[in-house]
Amino acid sequence: MTRRVLIAGNWKMNMLRAEGEALASALAKDFAVGAGADMLVCPPATLIAPVAAVLNGGAISVGGQDCHMNESGAHTGDVAAAMIKDLGGSHVIVGHSERRADHGESDATVKAKAEAALAAGLVPIVCVGETEAERDAGKAEAVVEAQIRGSLPAGATETGVVIAYEPVWAIGTGRTPTIDDIAAMHAHMRKVAGSMLGSAGALLLLYGGSVKPGNAAEILALEDVDGALVGGASLKAEDFLAIAAAA
Ligand code: PEP
Repeated sequence: MTRRVLIAGNWKMNMLRAEGEALASALAKDFAVGAGADMLVCPPATLIAPVAAVLNGGAISVGGQDCHMNESGAHTGDVAAAMIKDLGGSHVIVGHSERRADHGESDATVKAKAEAALAAGLVPIVCVGETEAERDAGKAEAVVEAQIRGSLPAGATETGVVIAYEPVWAIGTGRTPTIDDIAAMHAHMRKVAGSMLGSAGALLLLYGGSVKPGNAAEILALEDVDGALVGGASLKAEDFLAIAAAA
C-alpha cells in the first residue's frame, strides 16, 4: 500500500503575525505541488487565517494545534473544530503531550476532541507517546497501545485520521529513540490501529520528537513511518524544507 508522506509543522505558541506570514511565504516559495511529500503547517489559532491567506490553497495545507470537544458554547478561550475548518484548515492536532500535561487531557478527552474534528470535516492528528520513565520500565509499547485504544475517535477510517508517535522525552530535547525502537513502535501501532479500524494499510503514522534535517532521511525511510510531526525545526523554512526533501 503506497502512503503519501506527510510532513507536519507544529509551530506551538510562537510567532506574531508578520513572522508567521514570512515563514509561510518562504515555505510556499520553495515547496512545490508534486514534491515527494505533503506539507502541513499548524500555527497558533491566531495565525491560521493570515497563514491560510498567504498559502492561498496551494501545495501547503494549514491546520490547528488543538480544538474543543464541543461544537460551540460557553468555553471561554477555546476554539471549535468548525472554526479551524472555517479558516481553511484541513487537520488539527489533538492530544499533544504538552496539552495532556499542561491541561490534564485524558485519552477520553482526546478521543472526544478527535470526534469533534471528524464531525467538522477535519483530519485529527492524534498524538501518543510514552514518558522516559515508562520507556525505562519497558512499558513504552503498552502505554502507546493504551493511548491509541483510548484516543482514536469512534467512526474513524484509516484515511480519515493520522496518528503521531511522539515520545515525551524526545520532544524538544535533541534526543530520539533508536531507529530500531521507532521501527518497532510504528509496526506495533499499525497492528493496534488495524485491529480497531479494520485495516491500517493506508493509515498515516507520523514520528515526532527532535526530527531535524540531519536525522529525517533515516527516520522517514522506515517502512511504517509515513511522515513527521516537527516542532522546533518547523520554525525555520530552510530546516523544514530540508526535512520534507528528505522524504
Ligand atoms: C512536537 O512538539 O510536536 C515536536 C515534535 O517538537 P520537536 O520537533 O521540537 O521535538
